[in-house]
Amino acid sequence: MDSSVYVFAEDLRGEGVERVLDRIRGYGVAGVTVGAVHHATRDVTPHGLSRLTVRHDGAHFTPAPGLFGGLRLSPVPGYPEVFDGLREACAKRSLKLHAWTVFLYNATLGARHPDVTVRDCFGDRGSLTDLCPAHPDARDYAVALARAVARLGVDSVVAESLHFRPLRRHRSFVPLGPMDAYLFGLCFCEHCMRRAVNLGVDAEVAREECARIVGGVLDGDPPAQGEVTRAALTAYAGPDVVAYARARSESVTTLVSEVASAVAAEGSKLVFVDSTGAVKGYADGLPAPGLAAHDAWQLGVDLVALGDLVPAFGVLAYARDAARVADDVGAYLRSVGKDREVRAVLRPGHPDSDSADRLVAKARGAKAAGAAALDFYAYGLVPYPVLERIPAALSEAG
Ligand SMILES: [Zn+2]
Repeated sequence: MDSSVYVFAEDLRGEGVERVLDRIRGYGVAGVTVGAVHHATRDVTPHGLSRLTVRHDGAHFTPAPGLFGGLRLSPVPGYPEVFDGLREACAKRSLKLHAWTVFLYNATLGARHPDVTVRDCFGDRGSLTDLCPAHPDARDYAVALARAVARLGVDSVVAESLHFRPLRRHRSFVPLGPMDAYLFGLCFCEHCMRRAVNLGVDAEVAREECARIVGGVLDGDPPAQGEVTRAALTAYAGPDVVAYARARSESVTTLVSEVASAVAAEGSKLVFVDSTGAVKGYADGLPAPGLAAHDAWQLGVDLVALGDLVPAFGVLAYARDAARVADDVGAYLRSVGKDREVRAVLRPGHPDSDSADRLVAKARGAKAAGAAALDFYAYGLVPYPVLERIPAALSEAG
């Protein structure tokens, strides 16, 4: 069974390429998925060079000349040497090299070019981290970025945030129900609205409805109850809003199609990772009942359509329960097609796996459900004893 460990650029810089790759090879893993483009964050890193690692928005390689010529957006420079010699170091150990690429989540680019970021139903741009998948400049950037990463000679380009993202807020003293937060997170920029209108949706009515509902909650109306489903959203916000939300998948599907083609043209392969599994289970490994494959439409991800365009998918199986992992993998395969490569991304430790046995059970569940690979997230974030659970999980999965 194929496998990899997610590795941050800072892990390689801190501990050294040789040491990290030797350790991972020692676990019997088939490859590494190395962060080529990441977003700014701050992480506890138990065995890192520093125990608290500050990450910046950055591309950790130097793009081939000319790829971003004439484009408004170009990658924010990170640590340019991370991929130097990395392919050779992996080949020496018979490790595959995959490049983990964060596409449309970039606060630096958003702050420089606010017009490229999402715009809420009130007309505000409050999510400068989120570039809109419908904006032509963001799309040009994504396609060029895919080409640049693929040109590093990697086995695959693993795409994160190549779709819409949910509303994020650090503080809200107004209780927002899941549906309120969802409506508040919808983008109504001119490009999204035009695309929806072209698909026959009354985008202005949808925007007004969202503003009326969310505005009411901000004024003291009770928040929505229950999770976001098509039926619940129709009852709460009306058919125009649901049609608008569903129309967003056209922007994403066409963008992913262009990105997949660009990656293939460079001789590599796109692995599409949608964030739905993380939205549901990231915080505690206890995802809400709806399976990720069934709720991906909420981020504009049409898995059935993408199944015809993309060769491989990563499922963020962020759950404590092995049966849930199997259910998520199985539902994904039914959506994208049984012949597609579906990779289960597992967290070997907190908060999903409290023991080696639990990780082994999930590896077994993922394999039984049809996963083609297991990816473990992530090298620098978990203590060594947790990483040492990986060999047992792999031997169980065979
Ligand atoms: Zn938009």
